[in-house]
Amino acid sequence: MPTYVWNYLTEYQEERADILDAVEKVFESGQLVLGESVASFEAEFAAYHGVAHCVGVDNGTNAIVLGLQALGIGPGDEVITVSNTAAPTVVAIDAVGATPVFVDVRADDYLMDTAQIEAAITPRTRCLLPVHLYGQCVEMAPVLELAGQYGLRVLEDCAQAHGARHHGRLAGTMSDAAAFSFYPTKVLGAYGDGGATITSDAGVEAALRRLRYYGMESRYYVVGTPGHNSRLDEVQAEILRRKLRRLDAYIEGRRAVARRYQEGLGDVPGLVLPSLADGNDHVYYVYVARHPERDRIIKALEAHDIRLNVSYPWPVHTMTGFAHLGYEEGRLPVTEKLAHEIFSLPMYPSLPVDTQDKVITELRAVLDA
Ligand SMILES: *Cc1c(COP(=O)(O)O)cnc(C)c1O
Repeated sequence: MPTYVWNYLTEYQEERADILDAVEKVFESGQLVLGESVASFEAEFAAYHGVAHCVGVDNGTNAIVLGLQALGIGPGDEVITVSNTAAPTVVAIDAVGATPVFVDVRADDYLMDTAQIEAAITPRTRCLLPVHLYGQCVEMAPVLELAGQYGLRVLEDCAQAHGARHHGRLAGTMSDAAAFSFYPTKVLGAYGDGGATITSDAGVEAALRRLRYYGMESRYYVVGTPGHNSRLDEVQAEILRRKLRRLDAYIEGRRAVARRYQEGLGDVPGLVLPSLADGNDHVYYVYVARHPERDRIIKALEAHDIRLNVSYPWPVHTMTGFAHLGYEEGRLPVTEKLAHEIFSLPMYPSLPVDTQDKVITELRAVLDA
């Protein structure tokens, strides 16, 4: 296996005692589902964000599904989002019976082009769903202004933006509700699946708690619309509690890698490195570079055992699974062009410095820089 592909084993070696202590603590507690660790993690994750409520769920996709449902979004409603995202953003909108409506992204930072939102609003629009992609935030002022003007709810997809700030505010604290994923690769990752939805609205919180628990407010009795079984696992919650204390350090580690890439590659002609949007800092969940000869670069580096990922090779609206939405190719030109030119450099906090340097050297070599 190329050492450059993300894996958690280095981190596990460093954190092994703490992780295994977390597992042991839960197993010894006598409560394997919805116990003290989930409750504590929820309180600590809410406190980290300075919001009133956090509801732990089983993964990031369902954090969006339950978030949308708790905001009252369902069949017949339209949700405006982007096609340049991880497919689960759109899968979640589809899962609640709503219709995803796409706007394009900006050519410089690959984030939602908020100038296109207003033209996409119809009488059926109920929600705006900005995706804080790759680790930095969508420009929120226009999103919130349009939401106020048209009476729309706003849900932030924060699956890639734990700890990212926008004009000083943390991702996930700027809207009605925000969904997080704790998939192992994420900036805050569990040792398995996990997710959470945060909100400062007590009504939304109550709906989330009911929806993750079959639709029950208390045992054995479903009220309102039937829900799901979407609980966050106790073991994952306890591991996440430990890792939350290190979240800012993980982010610092990612930023150090980004600085090294910037220093080593910033002068390469034709190679576009990540650009920071106004008011943002970046947590570099994915370090996305761009070059017209992307496919040649990937092939050349593969020969040196460096595997470059593409996030994402197919815009969601071009997938056959979303053909029913009726978007022809050409409708979202920036998104479609990016899909052919972007690639990601290896990025995780424990990525060894000599590996970073090898990536820089080989990338410069293939581009004759
Ligand atoms: C990872 C991710 C999700 C889904 O999270 P899972 O925990 O894998 O279900 C949703 N949106 C974005 C932008 C993601 O990166």
